[in-house]
Amino acid sequence: PFRSRQNQPIRSQSSNHQPVNDGFVLEDVPHLTNFLPNLPSYPNPLKQSQAYAVVKQTFVSPDDVVAQKVVVQREGPRGVHFRRAGPREKVYFKSDEVRACIVTCGGLCPGINTVIREIVCGLNYMYGVEDILGIEGGYRGFYSKNTLRLTPKVVNDIHKRGGTFLRTSRGGHDTNKIVDNIQDRGINQVYIIGGDGTQRGADLIYKEVEKRGLQVAVAGIPKTIDNDIAVIDKSFGFDTAVEEAQRAINAAHVEAESVDNGVGIVKLMGRYSGFIALNATLASRDVDCCLIPESPFYLEGRGGLFEFVEERLKENGHVVIVLAEGAGQEYISGEMNAVDVKDASGNKLLLDVGLWLTQKIKDHFTKVQKTAINMKYIDPTYMIRAIPSNASDNIYCTLLAQSAVHGAMAGFSGFTVGPVNSRHAYIPIARVTETQNTVKLTDRMWARLLASTNQPSFLEYSEGQGQAKEDVDVINNNMRATL
Ligand code: ATP
Ligand code: MG
Repeated sequence: PFRSRQNQPIRSQSSNHQPVNDGFVLEDVPHLTNFLPNLPSYPNPLKQSQAYAVVKQTFVSPDDVVAQKVVVQREGPRGVHFRRAGPREKVYFKSDEVRACIVTCGGLCPGINTVIREIVCGLNYMYGVEDILGIEGGYRGFYSKNTLRLTPKVVNDIHKRGGTFLRTSRGGHDTNKIVDNIQDRGINQVYIIGGDGTQRGADLIYKEVEKRGLQVAVAGIPKTIDNDIAVIDKSFGFDTAVEEAQRAINAAHVEAESVDNGVGIVKLMGRYSGFIALNATLASRDVDCCLIPESPFYLEGRGGLFEFVEERLKENGHVVIVLAEGAGQEYISGEMNAVDVKDASGNKLLLDVGLWLTQKIKDHFTKVQKTAINMKYIDPTYMIRAIPSNASDNIYCTLLAQSAVHGAMAGFSGFTVGPVNSRHAYIPIARVTETQNTVKLTDRMWARLLASTNQPSFLEYSEGQGQAKEDVDVINNNMRATL
């Protein structure tokens, strides 16, 4: 049994937020034996596989956990922990009885094909599983389309292509119809690749599977190009996106610097989190100002964006602005009296802040300043989303896929995989959908950006807009410390 350092058994089954000894919390993932206690287990065939023949310790100890935060541990482990990902000594499926399926939902992101490929190859090469189905076109594909047979040969080259080999869609999640279909087709492992909406759907599927008492493992692989998924360190495709964004920023810079009063604006992904804009700005060094949803900005007056652009044009003759798509939404909707429009999955459609800002700056300079400026607006979103993943994301996707496969074979269900504090872990699905990962203005990373671009912090405004006075002080202190 799972034991804490004090050697007290940890009741490891299923419930979240379980304080064990003082200050130790294991946020555990469900296991099939929670609701099917008499399930037989088998020795993990990995021991006999070529791949693991010389690995010193083939299996992850059932006691291994990953700490969410590094904490001093004098009296024993403290803080929130998750189960460490990896192969277990016992598996709950016989290889020739596994019928797995893979589905991809939501928007595109570099690396989806690598995850698909590595789930197929992982199941086949590590566990000898041969029956793997592709569900085409997102959740609705379960009940409206035929399946596709996936073998290592079929998926051999797909990681070199962008997009998703299995195609995708929004909307169409019908839990009952999906689980009926899982049951009818005799599927017992479900791998679900997708963003926050998809993971919410995966949790509902898991709950229905549990209610019906089916021996089905449901594994989620979180996908979000914005890096806005809570708990995990980083999402796949993010590195690739930041890298590809450099090309757009570079183009904006070349355009801006080649003319008089050149202004280049690049809009990057980031509905609620500015990580791509922040990282792309820090990497590039060509960016004069970065605007993200977490940091409210203003245009007019002292310390405003117009003043900053005027100064940079005077000093350098050109200026480059990077903004995240979710930045400044509060202004645009206010000014345009916009009505809420939603996509098929119920997500609010954002207004184009890039077009809005382009017009605002143009108006300001031609009408108020009476100077001609040369404006270039670049929106590389779809070009970035569509490329194949880079080397580091490919490695990362491979780890995610293999962790998911080990977890499902070991009988875990209703879990998501991802690195927590740089160690791969199994996380209860609900835990990654209840909050969102955002750029913390009070962390040093934002201070580093402000120090790197020397852009206005817009803090006077922020203070008036409900930004806590203490936070503003922390940000100012961080900035001083970084400088
Ligand atoms: P991204 O936002 O990165 O594009 P996503 O997974 O959030 O990815 P969505 O279009 O929101 O993309 O959702 C994908 C799928 O998940 C859709 O089929 C949608 O019906 C389903 N879904 C979304 N939200 C929920 C929910 N709350 N419950 C059940 N299913 C959901
Ligand atoms: Mg989403």
